[in-house]
Amino acid sequence: MPRACLATFVMVTSFLSTINHFHMVATAGLADDGILLTPDIVSRIHTDHDSIARASSDFGHIVEAIPNGVFHPTSPADIVALIRLSISQPKPFAVAPRGQGHSARGQALAPGGIVIDMRSMRRGDHVSMSSEQLWADVGGEQLWIDVLHATLEHGLAPRIWTDYLRITVGGTLSNGGIGGQAFRHGPQISSVHELDVVTGMGEMITCSPDKDSDLFFAALGGLGQFGVITRARIALEPAPKRVLWVRVAYADVESFTSDQELLISKPASSGSGFDYVEGQVQMNRTLTEGRRSSSFFSASELDQLAKLVLDTGSTAIYYIEGAVYYNDDTASSVNQKLERLLEELNFVPGFAFVRDVSYVEFLDRVGREEQKLRAAGVWDVPHPWLNLFVPRSRILDFDAGVFRGILRDAKPAGLVLMYPMNRDRWDDRMTTATPGGEDVFYAVGLLRSAVAAGDLERLERENAAVLAFCDREGVGCRQYLPHHASRDGWRRHFGEKWGRLAALKRRYDPRGILSPGQGIFPAAGSDSL
Ligand code: FAD
Repeated sequence: MPRACLATFVMVTSFLSTINHFHMVATAGLADDGILLTPDIVSRIHTDHDSIARASSDFGHIVEAIPNGVFHPTSPADIVALIRLSISQPKPFAVAPRGQGHSARGQALAPGGIVIDMRSMRRGDHVSMSSEQLWADVGGEQLWIDVLHATLEHGLAPRIWTDYLRITVGGTLSNGGIGGQAFRHGPQISSVHELDVVTGMGEMITCSPDKDSDLFFAALGGLGQFGVITRARIALEPAPKRVLWVRVAYADVESFTSDQELLISKPASSGSGFDYVEGQVQMNRTLTEGRRSSSFFSASELDQLAKLVLDTGSTAIYYIEGAVYYNDDTASSVNQKLERLLEELNFVPGFAFVRDVSYVEFLDRVGREEQKLRAAGVWDVPHPWLNLFVPRSRILDFDAGVFRGILRDAKPAGLVLMYPMNRDRWDDRMTTATPGGEDVFYAVGLLRSAVAAGDLERLERENAAVLAFCDREGVGCRQYLPHHASRDGWRRHFGEKWGRLAALKRRYDPRGILSPGQGIFPAAGSDSL
């Protein structure tokens, strides 16, 4: 056994025997309330090399942290038992639920603690739902792609989607869950009616806006700090069958943003807008890597876009991505609807590209890109992603300072997203931090990959420069999928929510055991919560 593995093995073994030492109640089986007793919990903690290695890293491939074990629950009661075991120790151990581990900076890691592998609860695409009341009960561990297939069986689907569907309900609800439908329906956390949460006290609480509402709102966007979400009741709508999926290109940021803002101002009731609005920034580059991963543009369209970059001499071009949903009964009029809509927009003439795809093909578009990137060997690489919410009033300053300034010579592998959302679709009682004071803010995602030597350091330097620019210029950005290295950074991130969140932490996770990889509160065992 290599020395590092041996050291880990010895550490893990002594950790488990410490737990057993404090629990000599060695009666195997279940307590009266169905909660596992200690020996059964310990038997579900995997300490083999592969389990530990997998739980020590994430999609970001930037930080690593070795847990003492990986817990495999089969029910929420098992999670209750694990948490009760932790807080029964004189020095509790940290516990981190891990959905798909698709965080970028160790948010689902538990150095020296126990990672809960939520996959072991997975019930595939089984969900219970009410077709009359338009909701589905989904497990915190379930993948959105499975939720999609299950609800489509009944002709229904959730209203708001992240771009990528192989991430879990619990993971996205712990952040917010944004995508091109958010301008209309808000983030995923705005579509939740009820939650089951196992708190850091080992209590299972069913909460909603009317019952234990402080826990409900805290857990939504709560970065795993207040409890483990084991069930969410989410809103559904009748699912469309097909989608006209559109991209229109711009050479100037002013037309791009004013068209985006026009599109997100159209109410659903007008029947005249897109059902989905996002946007991308294509910076000073040859568009060659688009060939590797684009599930949208053909090779000749990529040539056309590359020529636009050359002809305009621009450091960046932009495109709006939109979608119009339709069904058999609206199929005959959908093309006219799209034509009318495009006539209102000021994109570069000749630069509108349309695909007619199924609803599933549209929603699972990043899944296809994943396959291509995996085949090219550039999926499991470092992802120093930086996501920001930028107030509308400063988006042009941000564009000038970042895309035409700091990043003007960057040739990034990856994507840059930029799209606006309506603030009134967000609920400030939830934990996710957003820029205050304006009706509209933009999501800007620098979703770049480090594929060559030196890339990671360069991208990290650029990210730091972008954050410093926002601070210096008082842009008022908030990070989404946030990462802050200091307590002060977190305080500023949450602003006026901080005091309330700290009080809720003391109430629902007073020993500070949950999701320590976020680094927001003092870790388990510390007295300073
Ligand atoms: P993990 O990384 O496993 O966990 C994230 C955090 O939540 C951790 O702190 C963890 O401890 C905690 N957690 C996990 N499960 C639970 C639970 N059941 N209860 C309480 N806490 C829990 N996000 C968007 O909003 N929109 C997008 O369009 C989008 N696109 C993406 C595309 C890709 C390719 C990737 C990799 C990510 C994307 N994300 C997007 C980000 C994604 O939503 C987050 O990274 C999310 O955390 C991933 O879910 P996960 O299941 O992997 O969570």
